[in-house]
Amino acid sequence: MNVSKTAELSSMTHPFVVTNGSQGTWNQDYGGKRVLIVYAHQMPTSMNGSLKDAAVTELSNQGCQVTVSDLYSMNFEPRATRQDFLGASSNSEFFNYAEEAHEAYKKGCLSKDVVEEQKKVQEADLVIFQFPMYWLSVPAILKGWLDRVLCKGFAFDIPGYFDKGFLKDKSALLSFTTGGTAEKYFQKELRGDIKYILWPLQHGVLHFCGFQILRPQINFAPEHASESKRKEMVASWARRLETIWDEKPINCTSSWYFEK
Ligand code: FAD
Ligand code: ZN
Repeated sequence: MNVSKTAELSSMTHPFVVTNGSQGTWNQDYGGKRVLIVYAHQMPTSMNGSLKDAAVTELSNQGCQVTVSDLYSMNFEPRATRQDFLGASSNSEFFNYAEEAHEAYKKGCLSKDVVEEQKKVQEADLVIFQFPMYWLSVPAILKGWLDRVLCKGFAFDIPGYFDKGFLKDKSALLSFTTGGTAEKYFQKELRGDIKYILWPLQHGVLHFCGFQILRPQINFAPEHASESKRKEMVASWARRLETIWDEKPINCTSSWYFEK
């Protein structure tokens, strides 16, 4: 099968790839909705950069307030270390990052970069994560954002997680690209169903913190797609965003991921 045929097949058969030609039937006023795009790509002219730009344009046109955390441009620190806490450790004898983060959050002693990201999350109705898949997960810089920003006390507590997570009035959406084609991800013997991969991120991280999960936007193998197909991927994403505020979250339980 040639490359363009593969891409065509993937977009026709995969439930996460938006192929409908919706002409934007929404007629509500979405002005005032706030969106945070957490974006992790080194190149502004990459597919991920184009997908991020398309989201900024479409959502801004709707009157939404859009904020982008461009992690590489910000030189975002991905490491979870003692530097994240201002002042003395709460336990000087044994360093436990999660507990120190919790204490620092309560005392207002988290480092400025983490506080700034938390403020952006707090203000957002929708958080979009835009990234290329790295090792069936997110790039390290984005993993570091999750590690440092979604700390105990801010995003969750014990108890106070999943449907009681502190970010439960917000939606989250993973928008990502892959190197592998859709076919590879649906032949279980090769890479396994892509839904399995989404379980740790969507359920284990985002739903754990309370987020309602919107279905992912997956653009398979842009590097192997034709120019016109890549343009269609970007246009399709923009079309989906026209009606994003009408979307219902997925039922983020194990059955969504592991049952046919
Ligand atoms: P790009 O290379 O930026 O885009 C492809 C082409 O699209 C470019 O030529 C670009 O110029 C063009 N383009 C940009 N904007 C537009 C536009 N608006 N219209 C038309 N064309 C446009 N893949 C997997 O599947 N599974 C893995 O586990 C995995 N692990 C990885 C681990 C690492 C460390 C790395 C580095 C890569 C891994 N990959 C993996 C591959 C990776 O996911 C892909 O390389 C990436 O998703 C491709 O997206 P991109 O934005 O970088 O593409
Ligand atoms: Zn879940």
